[in-house]
Amino acid sequence: MIHVSQLVKYYNGLKALDNVSFHVMEGEIFGLLGPNGAGKTTLVGILTTEVKPTSGTARIKGIDVVNDPLAVKHLIGVVPQHRSLDRKLNGRENMLVMARAYGVKNPKSRVEELLALVGLTDRADNGIRQYSGGMLQKLLVARALIHDPEIIFLDEPSLGLDPQARIAIWDEILRFKDEGKTMILTTHYMEEADRLCDRVAIMNQGKIVKEGTPEKLKNEGIMRSVVTLELKRISDDVVEEIAEFEEVEEVQVIEKGFTELHVYTHNAEKNIPQIIKIIQRHGLKVYRLRSQEPSLEDVFINLTGRSLT
Ligand code: ADP
Repeated sequence: MIHVSQLVKYYNGLKALDNVSFHVMEGEIFGLLGPNGAGKTTLVGILTTEVKPTSGTARIKGIDVVNDPLAVKHLIGVVPQHRSLDRKLNGRENMLVMARAYGVKNPKSRVEELLALVGLTDRADNGIRQYSGGMLQKLLVARALIHDPEIIFLDEPSLGLDPQARIAIWDEILRFKDEGKTMILTTHYMEEADRLCDRVAIMNQGKIVKEGTPEKLKNEGIMRSVVTLELKRISDDVVEEIAEFEEVEEVQVIEKGFTELHVYTHNAEKNIPQIIKIIQRHGLKVYRLRSQEPSLEDVFINLTGRSLT
């Protein structure tokens, strides 16, 4: 559906995109994650025909974004981050302006259909100055769908929204997925990427440094889990034995009146039974055990050295 090959973008000598290649399949939600300045906006700008690449190609359904931007525009809908709505108009009027700009057939009924879809019918007569952040975002989503695009770009779709409004937008995005839409979304929220995206690309300094399903990124072994065990006491030889496992990176002993053992491992599933065996062999008992898997945020920090939040 989307094919990006060796994209490079320079801004006056500054390399904003450095040989970026990837593809997105029909019906997928593809996430772009990266710290500020990673090149996400530039990349989306090229795909949405707003920015010209220095070299490389990007094609949407086989159409080159540089050669035929108009054809591409009819295939895509863009939910921008900046709330680019006309504040003098009400919700319905904002939609109608867009419908006319796209030459949509039966603009009035199409607008009503979309207002109903995002649950804004009751408020469509209100000036958008009276809209909450969540309502503005819904209106932007509805507006991006005016010409029934096959591909939707969402730039930070839930930025600045309260948790309830965020979940409402997520539901909407998942509904579009059910309808077979293809989506590219940029986000700062790891939970958003984890919940919504089929695949994510982590970008840093103009490059894709890692790409895959959220599951794959978390499980790939680049990340370690923490296994926490509570015991009455522990002996040094037990700690040494555990530390000798190939996958174990570090063992910490914390005294809290009881003993807490933190085992940092690249393969918790394999090590947990082994650790328990060692402890039992020494006549000791585990009272509690929990294992914390790495989050997508951990993976991100590991790859970029920066936190997103
Ligand atoms: P992101 O969206 O991941 O924050 P951007 O694509 O906005 O990243 O920026 C990538 C790099 O390109 C940054 O160093 C940024 O300062 C630079 N950049 C982006 N847009 C322009 C522009 N119009 N002119 C000059 N430099 C730009």
